[in-house]
Amino acid sequence: MSLCTVRCSICGGYMSRTTTKRGKPFLYCGRCGLGSMVLRQSTIDALNKVCQSISESDLPGETLKKQRGQR
Ligand SMILES: [Zn+2]
Repeated sequence: MSLCTVRCSICGGYMSRTTTKRGKPFLYCGRCGLGSMVLRQSTIDALNKVCQSISESDLPGETLKKQRGQR
């Protein structure tokens, strides 16, 4: 399973990317607990361009738990 993600701006780990009930992307870092929701459509489009495709197993352990818990 691969996912398109970005690095955490605090600790540099990969963030899990899930979708909120309202359909907005939510990025979460289990290593340091940073979470961010993307609200603006133009930024969601930008995120889809800058994100990096990684294998789900490359996520840090704590982040992977969040990723799997939300599917
Ligand atoms: Zn982090």
